[in-house]
Amino acid sequence: MLRIAIYGKGGIGKSTTVSNLSAALAQRGLTIMQIGCDPKADSTLLLMHGQRIDSVLDTMRAHGDPALDDVVHKGHAGVLCVEAGGPTPGTGCAGRGIITAFEQLDELNAYGVYRPDVVLYDVLGDVVCGGFSLPLRGEHSDIVFVVTSGEMMAMYAASNIASAVERFKTRDYAQFGGLILNKRNVENEDEFVEQLARELNTEVVGTIPRSSDIHECEQRQCTVIEGAPDSTVAHAYETLVDAMLAKAAALGLGEVGSR
Ligand code: ATP
Ligand code: MG
Repeated sequence: MLRIAIYGKGGIGKSTTVSNLSAALAQRGLTIMQIGCDPKADSTLLLMHGQRIDSVLDTMRAHGDPALDDVVHKGHAGVLCVEAGGPTPGTGCAGRGIITAFEQLDELNAYGVYRPDVVLYDVLGDVVCGGFSLPLRGEHSDIVFVVTSGEMMAMYAASNIASAVERFKTRDYAQFGGLILNKRNVENEDEFVEQLARELNTEVVGTIPRSSDIHECEQRQCTVIEGAPDSTVAHAYETLVDAMLAKAAALGLGEVGSR
């Protein structure tokens, strides 16, 4: 089992990226679990064809003690979709919500029951507080990638997340896998992000072009892997999957296919 956390600034394209990666991996015959760690609970919408699933926290509020079936929903290509969820708006702490949701998933033995080959966490990286940093811990993830564009605020967030991983390097934390460039087509974007990667002592593992196919498929509530499989951008996600798996293998992390 390989557990991958994908971080990035709000709105940068995390959920789109993670959903396409999940779809690409699932279409290769692997069992994939995608866990949205965002109070909006919208990470898995493209895989669920627009259907909102109840989050772990919503289900806990409604049932007290949810069953696994209440929180794990099968989406496109059988991807196991989970949303951690968040507190009722205006009350509680979103980070604490992630901690509670993770505890609940552990209690339900979600990994033991479904035995995913790859688990992907989609995590908002604007605030790397205790809760939002939980997926960085070795007990949850093996490797962390950060989605960024060449825009300053996205690179600033990427840099913060990389520093958090670096700071905890000696403890049992996930390893830093690199940057994913999700293009906004700002000037000198590739150079800016390559430069950031050098400063962080890491690499750009893949580049996703800005593409209208993503928007068109979003209107149809599906990933481009499903809805536009022959598009340039779908091929870019396939190439990215290969690069991420190669990076994890090079670091000697959780082999895919071994359970
Ligand atoms: P949030 O932090 O709010 O959860 P996010 O980082 O998950 O946001 P997404 O919801 O994946 O971001 O993407 C934001 C918008 O950008 C979506 O409308 C999506 O379709 C669009 N988008 C993402 N990547 C691309 C791309 N490569 N080309 C064109 N549009 C894109
Ligand atoms: Mg999102």
